[in-house]
Amino acid sequence: MGINVCLEKCVGCSLCVKACGLDAITIKDKKAVIDMAKCSMCSACVEACKKFGAITITKESSAKADVNDYKNVAVFIEQHEGKVAGVSYEMLGEGRKLANDLSEKLVAVLLGSNMNDVAADLVKYGADKVVYFDSPELVQFRDDTYTALVCDFIEKDKPSILLAGATAVGRSFVPKIAARVWGGLTADCTKLEVDTERRLLLGTRPAFGGNLMATIIAPHHRPQIATVRHKVMKAAARDENRSGEVTVITVDAARIAKINERTKILDIVKEIESTVNIAEADIIVSGGRGMGSAENFSLIRDLAQALGGAVGASRAAVDSEWIPYSHQVGQTGKTVCPKLYIACGISGSVQHMAGMQSSDFIIAINKDPAADIFQIANLGIVGDALEILPQLTKAFKEKVCA
Ligand SMILES: Cc1cc2nc3c(=O)[nH]c(=O)nc-3n(C[C@H](O)[C@H](O)[C@H](O)COP(=O)(O)OP(=O)(O)OC[C@H]3O[C@@H](n4cnc5c(N)ncnc54)[C@H](O)[C@@H]3O)c2cc1C
Ligand code: SF4
Ligand code: SF4
Repeated sequence: MGINVCLEKCVGCSLCVKACGLDAITIKDKKAVIDMAKCSMCSACVEACKKFGAITITKESSAKADVNDYKNVAVFIEQHEGKVAGVSYEMLGEGRKLANDLSEKLVAVLLGSNMNDVAADLVKYGADKVVYFDSPELVQFRDDTYTALVCDFIEKDKPSILLAGATAVGRSFVPKIAARVWGGLTADCTKLEVDTERRLLLGTRPAFGGNLMATIIAPHHRPQIATVRHKVMKAAARDENRSGEVTVITVDAARIAKINERTKILDIVKEIESTVNIAEADIIVSGGRGMGSAENFSLIRDLAQALGGAVGASRAAVDSEWIPYSHQVGQTGKTVCPKLYIACGISGSVQHMAGMQSSDFIIAINKDPAADIFQIANLGIVGDALEILPQLTKAFKEKVCA
C-alpha cells in the first residue's frame, strides 16, 4: 500500500493539508509533501484533492500472491505497569489451539520495559517464541509507537494470524496495524477457528445488532487479524515444563522520539472504582430499567456489597444516567463471566445477554414471568425487585456473611 503525490498535477493549494487530521502533509516549494511516519492511509487528502487528482493511494492486491510467505500465530501481549492483562493469557490459550491445529508456532509480542522475566514467563503459558521490544519509552501504551513496532514485527516475522484483546488498547491501535500492513481485521470475535485445508482464520462475531453470528475470513490478506473481548475465551494454563525462545529487541530512543513527535502524554487519569471491576468480578448484581430510578440503584449496590461483588447495569439504566457506562454489560458494554450474575429488572435483550450469558449461574428477578431473561436464568424470581432486593441483602448479611 502506498501514497503518492503527482508533482505535475499538484498546484500547492493546501486543501489536502487542511483535510489531513494527522498533520502528515506540508507544502514545500508549492508542492504537497507527505510524511509517511504520520500518514495512516485514511484517504481524506485524496478526497480533498479530487479536483486536481494529484494524490493517489495504491492498494496492492499482490498480498494474494504473498499469502504463502506468512506462517505462525502471533499474540499481542497487553501490559499495564508491567503486569500482563488477563485478556492476553486468554489469547495465548486460544492462539495455542489455533497454532496446534495448523501445526505452526505460537509467538508472543510484548512491548515494555524491564520485563525480561515476564517475557520468559510467557513461554510457560504456551508461547514457542517471545519477541520482546524493550525501552523505557514503552512502559506506557502509545498508539503511534506500538503501531510502528508491531508493524516492524509483522514485516520481519510475517505471522499468518495476529490476535489481540478487544480492549481500549487493542481497539485503538490494532485497526491501524491492519491498515498499515494491509491485513484483514475481524474485530470483537466471540469464537476463533481455523480452516486447516485453506489455512484460514474463521473469526465469528455478532452482526446486525447481535441478531446473527457472522463468520468472517480474509483469504487474500495477511496477517489475518482478530480482536477478542476479555472473558470470552479460556486463559492458557501455566506449564512449568515448557521451553521456548525469547528475543529481546532494544528499541532506539531516537526512533521512538521521532514516532512520538506529534503526541504528548499530559496526564493519565485512572477511573476510581468504589466496588470491584465488573470484568474481573466473581459475583455481579446488575440493574436495569426495572429499577425505576438512580436512587433505587442503591438496592443493587447494597446487595453487591453484602456479597462482595460488583455492580453491573443494562444499557437502559446507563442511558438513563443512573450509573456510569463503565458498569454496562452487553454487546456495547463489557463481556462478563462471573460465577454468579443476578439480573434485576432486566428484560434480557439479545444485546444484554451477549455480554453475560456465559456466567456460571444466573438469577433473574423480574415482574414479568414472560421476560426473556428467564430463558437463560438458572433461577428465576417473579416479583418486584424493589421489594425482593432488600430482603435478599438482609438474608445474605444475616445468614451468609455472619
Ligand atoms: C446496537 C445495540 C447495542 C446495544 N448494546 C447493549 C448493551 O451492551 N447492553 C444492554 O444492556 N443493552 C444494549 N442494548 C439495548 C438493548 O436492546 C435493550 O434496550 C436494553 O438491554 C434494555 O434494558 P433493560 O432490560 O434494563 O430494559 P427493558 O427492556 O425496558 O426491561 C426492563 C425490565 O424490567 C422489568 N421490571 C420493571 N419493573 C420491575 C420491578 N419493579 N421489579 C422487577 N422487574 C421489573 C420489566 O418487566 C422488564 O422486563 C443495545 C441495543 C442496540 C441496538
Ligand atoms: S490538494 Fe492536491 S493540488 Fe492541492 S496541495 Fe494538495 S496535492 Fe496539491
Ligand atoms: S492519507 Fe490521510 S493521513 Fe495520509 S496524508 Fe492523506 S489525509 Fe493525511
